[in-house]
Amino acid sequence: MPTGPDHLLFVDGEFDEAADGATFETRNPSDGSVIGAVAQAGPADAERAVAAARRAFDEGPWPSMAPGERVRILMRMAEILDERTGDLSTLEARDAGHTVRFANLFTIPIGLLYWRYTVELAGKLDLTEPVPQLGFPAPAWSFVQREPYGVCAGIVPWNFPFIMAVWKSAPALATGNTMVLKPAEYTPLSALELGRAAQDAGLPPGVLNILPGPGPTVGEALVADPRVDKVAFTGSTAVGRRIMRVASDTVKKVTLELGGKSANILLPDADLDVAVPGALWATYLHQGQICHSGTRCLVPRGSYDEVVGRMVELAEGLRVGPAEDFESDLGPLADAKQLATVQRYIEVGQDEGAKLLTGGGRPDGLPEGGWYVQPTIFGEVDNGMRIAQEEIFGPVLSVIPYDTVEDAIRIANDSIYGLAGGVWSRDVPRALEVAKRLRTGTVWVNDYHLVTPAAPFGGYKQSGIGREHGLWGLSEYLQVKYVHVDQTPTKDQKFWYQILGL
Ligand code: NAD
Repeated sequence: MPTGPDHLLFVDGEFDEAADGATFETRNPSDGSVIGAVAQAGPADAERAVAAARRAFDEGPWPSMAPGERVRILMRMAEILDERTGDLSTLEARDAGHTVRFANLFTIPIGLLYWRYTVELAGKLDLTEPVPQLGFPAPAWSFVQREPYGVCAGIVPWNFPFIMAVWKSAPALATGNTMVLKPAEYTPLSALELGRAAQDAGLPPGVLNILPGPGPTVGEALVADPRVDKVAFTGSTAVGRRIMRVASDTVKKVTLELGGKSANILLPDADLDVAVPGALWATYLHQGQICHSGTRCLVPRGSYDEVVGRMVELAEGLRVGPAEDFESDLGPLADAKQLATVQRYIEVGQDEGAKLLTGGGRPDGLPEGGWYVQPTIFGEVDNGMRIAQEEIFGPVLSVIPYDTVEDAIRIANDSIYGLAGGVWSRDVPRALEVAKRLRTGTVWVNDYHLVTPAAPFGGYKQSGIGREHGLWGLSEYLQVKYVHVDQTPTKDQKFWYQILGL
């Protein structure tokens, strides 16, 4: 007897199969086994989800609800998700290859922290602002009103399925928008948990809809739909360009969080006991599948041999293993296609003449079907090489020697990307001078990867448009309306009517 999918779409407050009954399999990256059949949304489901989100915005209570009431429902969702953190961590390990240490310590707690912080901040926002009175042509009582955009499409990648779903839906919903969220094909499961929490918390139907399915069909249908007011996208720069083009037909508001090839600069006075492990932390966290990974490490030529020696020793001590094994420092890559991409770049690096110092292969003794690669370090990399210019999205570190700090800054900025960067020095004012000259949206001094919901996150150059988090992030989900209220009640006071001879 045929059975339905294990995981369903979430549309208009209900879990449902795809209109055409299509499904796809999601796999465990640690061993390649199938972990479930998922309903696969197509354009007809996009149509249905956008209609539901439109109805919830145009006719439902959500956009005009008192902010305190919205906060109450969204905080209830956080409580429900909090109660399920154990299950969420396991899902993130099974579906996306987050090691259990990473999922338990970071990804799920950070996702919930972002949710709560964003919702609370939105609840306190002053949505009206007075406008300075210039007195010409006449006094007026006028103000600016902040209002939700309407229906937002959130399209997210596979590296942080839960965090990305939160980063899109929390600010959209907390500011009174409705949303259709499309998780990545490889990793739909934890995002669907937001749907379950929405149902249990009493979120009105249609406010949040979740559509697992392929980007070029269901994702693009959302971007093209004239009923969608805003697209919030996180993913590759190539797809970001495509989204901008498609969204331009209906002149939609678009925010883009795209790729990176961030430079991590060890200044000559860096404390190598901290900076060397810091350079590996910057690269290998989540197997290098992080947009802001510090995959180009810039090292002074004078200490190059010592630094790469220490790096290789530390990298060779890292344990790669199944995501659910508590002993694993690094887990598998998220998908077979991603593994093939990383392996191709490891060949490219060698063909280009970079020196493979360690790694490059598959670690021994791991489950056959898993998508593993050793932590890899290339030395003597020239910044013009493809492995220094293109995003690999795997555990591959390119070490680039430099002569002067001026050179380091020039090399760091010589990239189409500008997402993040790191500077390591015992002299913080000196590090700050360098930080100021990096053309990137984030710079960490003497650490890496530590983001907070209170600070803006986003890219310079081809790493994106707009910012997420804090007030900056909420502003991206709010339209600004100017309202002018007349203070000249008689016709005689309105001298400007004379322009038309009235
Ligand atoms: P991707 O661009 O291939 O896909 C991202 C999402 O877009 C997926 O949901 C996909 O289905 C969808 N998509 C693909 N084609 C589409 C189309 N034509 N129209 C609409 N949607 C479409 O990226 P990925 O491989 O899933 O993720 C890795 C990339 O994400 C890396 O480049 C990484 O740097 C980037 N990323 C950026 C940030 C950031 O905040 N800047 C964070 C995480 C990941």
